[in-house]
Amino acid sequence: MRPILFLTQPIPAPAIARLEEVFELNQNTSDTILSKAELIAGIGNADALLCLLTDSIDREVIDAAPRLRCISNYAVGYNNIDVEHATQKGIVVCNTPGVLTETTADLTWALLMSCARRIVESDRFLRQGRFTGWKPLLLLGNDIHGKTLGIIGMGRIGRAVARRASGFDMRILYYDPSVDKDSLPAEYEAVELDNLLKNSDFISIHVPLLPATHHLIGAREFALMKSNAVLINTARGPIVDESALIQALREGRIAAAGLDVYEQEPQVPQELIELENAVLLPHIGSASVETRTRMGLLAAENAIAVIQGRTPPARVN
Ligand code: NAD
Repeated sequence: MRPILFLTQPIPAPAIARLEEVFELNQNTSDTILSKAELIAGIGNADALLCLLTDSIDREVIDAAPRLRCISNYAVGYNNIDVEHATQKGIVVCNTPGVLTETTADLTWALLMSCARRIVESDRFLRQGRFTGWKPLLLLGNDIHGKTLGIIGMGRIGRAVARRASGFDMRILYYDPSVDKDSLPAEYEAVELDNLLKNSDFISIHVPLLPATHHLIGAREFALMKSNAVLINTARGPIVDESALIQALREGRIAAAGLDVYEQEPQVPQELIELENAVLLPHIGSASVETRTRMGLLAAENAIAVIQGRTPPARVN
């Protein structure tokens, strides 16, 4: 009998085809996020699970799957999984690092440039029929070139974002106590978080969501930032205290924010939606055709390797 894999939502076809070579698939064929009860029902006879960052794989869900040997997350972040409990039960947890790094860095830059040059606001302005001619003072933004970019979390994505800044002649500050400084260009400056917040024109967050990074950026941190600062978050919503961010944007404490992630996804506070100086994306950091396929194939290989008793390409625990 073939092992059973429970797939919680459709992923790109090449990944499904690869999974079908090994597994009998039990899949949710609609793109609706499964409820906890549906997750529990679906996982009951599964040997492997391929899940998304929107699936909360907590103790109760894990305990409902007596045969489960692998949780393969279709994401690099794995804060949606109770890894400790899975480890205790001998279940291998895997993720999809590396394959989405450049695509997420591209999107981070799209947000940075949109905020600096008020791209989305300008598009709205034009579509509202308000473009009545070139004006010296119309929709002035801030330069990007020659400015200082502060990176919080200089891992794979943080580095890829920093690399893109070289074409803009930017100074790079970074805060990441665990990083090996020798692996980075000598001109990048390692600083303490407060120093980064005080001196950066653009601040981009690339740390994982952990107890230590929950609300890493809150009212105290916004008070340290420059009034022209732009905050970009493509990491995880709860790293930023959203109420404090809304207040900082409202009061002009900082110039703008570009967000791909939110504290209570998919809910986005109405106060944020009403702010002209926020660019808001629906968590599409890794959403390119090529990358979503690569993520699917890596997630499939992870699950297949575990079931076949081999070391998976990207193991978390
Ligand atoms: P990574 O592990 O390569 O890098 C994370 C870095 O953060 C590491 O260098 C680590 O030392 C540093 N770090 C950890 N705790 C820290 C702290 N308290 N202070 C400062 N630095 C700290 O991870 P990555 O592949 O670069 O991904 C980063 C995060 O981006 C993921 O965990 C995920 O949540 C998020 N992500 C989001 C999207 C999206 O769709 N928006 C896509 C991919 C990844």
